[in-house]
Amino acid sequence: MKCEKINNCPFYQQKMPIDSGLGAIYRRNYCETDKTKCARFMVASTLGPSYVPIDLYPNMVDRAKQIISENSQG
Ligand code: SF4
Repeated sequence: MKCEKINNCPFYQQKMPIDSGLGAIYRRNYCETDKTKCARFMVASTLGPSYVPIDLYPNMVDRAKQIISENSQG
């Protein structure tokens, strides 16, 4: 299922530098197939879009978990 953030997402809109082949793979595997595995989506859906670092790529799940734990209460 496609991610609903596609139209506004800097990664999907190719505003983040990445090897074009790798970018295409990520767009297919995350944005167009399973957004729930995307690091950007995890942070945005848990904390809000303003918490998503500009340089967070879809595969950076460990960093996403760290950001979420650092900004979550309790
Ligand atoms: S899956 Fe992640 S990178 Fe792709 S459009 Fe959604 S938030 Fe952006």
